[in-house]
Amino acid sequence: MATTDSSFNGLTEYCKECDLDTLHEVNVQIRTESLKKENAQFSREPYRVTECQRCGTRSSQRMNNA
Ligand SMILES: [Zn+2]
Repeated sequence: MATTDSSFNGLTEYCKECDLDTLHEVNVQIRTESLKKENAQFSREPYRVTECQRCGTRSSQRMNNA
């Protein structure tokens, strides 16, 4: 849809702090989790991290629904 500006990885999303739809910077982080001792392997979970460009609030959510 947006073809004019590909240099900034942002999109408009709702920010609960601003109570508005604002521009957010979006990144993906891989976080290592080791929740259970019997699980010998660490699970590496991708998180989608968004930062409101208006108020700076960051939020993250796990991308896997497992
Ligand atoms: Zn905000």
